[in-house]
Amino acid sequence: MAKKLFIPGPVEVAPEILQAMATPMIGHRMPEYASLHRGVKEKLKKLLFTDARVFLATSSAFGVMEGAVRNLVGKRCANFCNGAFSDKWHDVTRRCGKEADAVKVEWGQPITPELVDRTLATGKYDAFTMIHNETSTGVMSPLPEIAAVLRRYPDVVSIVDTVSSMSALKIPVDELGIDCCIFGVQKAFALPPGLAVFTASDKALERAKTIEGRGYYFDFLEFAAADEKDNTPSTPCISQIYAMDRQLDRIFAEGLERRWQRHREMADFVRNWVTGQGYGFLPEPPYRSLTLTCALNTKNTDLAALKKRLGERGYAFDDGYGKLKGKTFRIAHMGDMQVADLEEYLGVVTELSRAEK
Ligand SMILES: *Cc1c(COP(=O)(O)O)cnc(C)c1O
Repeated sequence: MAKKLFIPGPVEVAPEILQAMATPMIGHRMPEYASLHRGVKEKLKKLLFTDARVFLATSSAFGVMEGAVRNLVGKRCANFCNGAFSDKWHDVTRRCGKEADAVKVEWGQPITPELVDRTLATGKYDAFTMIHNETSTGVMSPLPEIAAVLRRYPDVVSIVDTVSSMSALKIPVDELGIDCCIFGVQKAFALPPGLAVFTASDKALERAKTIEGRGYYFDFLEFAAADEKDNTPSTPCISQIYAMDRQLDRIFAEGLERRWQRHREMADFVRNWVTGQGYGFLPEPPYRSLTLTCALNTKNTDLAALKKRLGERGYAFDDGYGKLKGKTFRIAHMGDMQVADLEEYLGVVTELSRAEK
């Protein structure tokens, strides 16, 4: 039986999107592709509030996360780490042969502007990575405040992962001054996995020109050259780009303000449920994510058993990521989801968790 997904990625994909993926194939060097590509790019620029370059990469997010450090780290990278994905990004940075330090806070804590300031003030770094919304811990770090600090360090290229937040709230890339903003599409965008989007400021492209060993597949300068012709360096995932085009139309049809509001309502609904059930939260209130809730299993519910029961009822439940498995559980509230979907799901979770006491 197909399970309805309430895990933080991949999330449910609308039938209309799956249909868009069945659009007959075109060649990526045909004018039809350039027109599709240009349209998607223009819509993404509107959504991201940016005039910077917007590129489409055929990979999951980590492809571009790796590409970004290969292209943009010269001297040394400060990888801010507060969860599984940001910890892994540091590992990836080192595996690319880059000098890098992990600036760690405990899982469940946010990255703070003070920590960023203190770290960059050492003058050791020319690149910065952070994850806006740590999906493993349900922590959303204060991006506008951090961006204000970054502005004081013009020699540092900023690379920000917005995989599980982009489109759920306003993230004005240019106003924030993010040099390279990266996201995959199977989370906040509610598309099937396989496509990643990234921006590159002029500063980022200038930096890339000075870096040896950028490789080929994620070479930002290859992307910039192909972009001149509304194209990609190698064959893109055309079906997914059709899906993205359709999803962007759906996002603008809903309206950005309404989409952001819906995410706030879903987050409130889930947080109230967590409180009402007597569970705790991993993050402190100001840093609780808008797109997923990471609850503390303070009642010692048998989460593995609950997950199994929910599976039998047709729901995919997340019982925590990595070292938080069993100690926390995560409820996604992102993408196309509505409060009504969460009402249905949490109704069943309430019923079954009573039995798993
Ligand atoms: C899921 C996720 C990733 C990894 O994405 P892949 O698509 O698996 O490469 C990276 N960052 C964040 C914040 C994520 O949630």
